[in-house]
Amino acid sequence: MSQIPDHIMQRLRTCTTFPTPPPVAMKVLQLAQNPDIDLAKVADTVSADPAIAAKVMRIANSAMYARRRQSANLRQALITLGLNATLTLALSFTLVQTLKKTATGGFDFQAYWRRTVLSAAWGKLLASELGRRDAEEIFLASLLQDLGMLVVFKLWPEVYEGIAPFKIEHPRICQHEQNCIGTDHRAIGSALLGIWNMPANLVQALQHSHDPSAAGVDAEDKPFIRAVAMSGELSDVWLGARNDVTLRRVGQQAHKYLGIQPHRLGEMFDLVREQLPVAEELFQMELYDAGQLQDITDAARETLMVHNLRQIADNNMLEKSKRELEEENSELKTENVRDPLTNAHNRRFFEDSLNREFETASRHGWPLSVVFVDLDKFKQVNDNFGHQAGDAILQAVAQLLRNTLRDSDIVARYGGDEFVLLLPGIDAGKADSVGVRVCEEARKRNVQTTDGRQVGITLSLGIATFDSHNGFDSPKALLAAADSALYQSKKDGRDRYTCFDKIKAA
Ligand code: GH3
Ligand code: MG
Repeated sequence: MSQIPDHIMQRLRTCTTFPTPPPVAMKVLQLAQNPDIDLAKVADTVSADPAIAAKVMRIANSAMYARRRQSANLRQALITLGLNATLTLALSFTLVQTLKKTATGGFDFQAYWRRTVLSAAWGKLLASELGRRDAEEIFLASLLQDLGMLVVFKLWPEVYEGIAPFKIEHPRICQHEQNCIGTDHRAIGSALLGIWNMPANLVQALQHSHDPSAAGVDAEDKPFIRAVAMSGELSDVWLGARNDVTLRRVGQQAHKYLGIQPHRLGEMFDLVREQLPVAEELFQMELYDAGQLQDITDAARETLMVHNLRQIADNNMLEKSKRELEEENSELKTENVRDPLTNAHNRRFFEDSLNREFETASRHGWPLSVVFVDLDKFKQVNDNFGHQAGDAILQAVAQLLRNTLRDSDIVARYGGDEFVLLLPGIDAGKADSVGVRVCEEARKRNVQTTDGRQVGITLSLGIATFDSHNGFDSPKALLAAADSALYQSKKDGRDRYTCFDKIKAA
């Protein structure tokens, strides 16, 4: 679990640019924590804010809480919803209104709210399915699970520059944040809720929001945490790759951690779809297209139904795929994915990753860049300074490439003095700046030989980007394009980078 450094904690405590919950929300929170709370008091507090009162009425009469009778006034609505639900919904509504005000350029707020509102709808539904009495708190925790991202963006906007945080696998964002600021949005979100005096279960749920197994959590707290973490997983599948593999995985997780059968999970996709318009209305946002929603849920339901039948018919299959996965993992552990000299990834690992990333990029329409890097006149370096010095330079170049790139990028030694970079989510413009940076870093760097001499190096790069402007039929074709761009750099005099689309256009 990511720990939060002291200076960041200090910054969260004293930051005035980040909105705090409005007073009415804090009042609501205090009321919710009081066991002797009475209806009149809640009605008073809620009616003090006409916008909240109207919301409560609207929700009480919505499909989410459909009862046979409609509530005609606030008091009836409160009875329908229950006190806790009313308070929690009022809190979620006021918080979202406040957080919406943080919207400024440079962050995809629409994508943020799409994920969190969808997660909230899933959280609520999972909680109801499990018969939880704290369904609204699960709803609220699911809604706030990525609150830390808003804080990171507000305080360190550069962290999300150059990456599309909602287009890469969600847990990878944490890795990236960790590299940039030494902690991640889970820890930050959870710390902020602590500062706001939010209930402990919400604080804990945010901290564990990426771990549906809820490892290391007390047994009695596990269901709450699991429901919240699964709400995020299900939203990611919904918004991302809804293929057989991902649906099968969430199907298994929902079964393992929440006891929900795959066919039931399939039906729940429909129920979430029905609830989304209510959630959109609650938060006054238009996030989803009704037609697309229908297609998504139809496909998910069908896949999960098939999964269910298969599971019954062939239980061995699950065992088999589990074994295969374990074998795959232990293969990774034996480190035969790395080049022994430079510790960069090896060519095989690169090729497997390229195939996988190419597939993902084609499916989602995400950009993917590949860069060949070759040392200039390296033969001469070997001849002048010896092979050992050459080896040290190769190691230094691998290090330089790793330091210049993000952790989610792959740096591999392709062979000899040639490296290759795989940059998921990096479009042509950003690949261009990678080219600038790598060439500059190399020029700055001297490597010292064992006898104390300084050797300077330069690099030549060839860049190819797969995106909506440049389609490539296969990973091989993309790689070949980067290779021919490298050839061009060498031809033009070395110590430079060339983008394939420029040669193509020329
Ligand atoms: P260019 O600018 O055209 O790339 O010139 P170059 O001399 O770098 O030419 P090329 O890329 O064809 O040469 C690669 C050289 O890299 C050949 C070999 O001496 C050296 N080399 C390959 N593998 C190793 C290695 O593991 N250690 C060392 N020290 N040198 C290596
Ligand atoms: Mg070379």
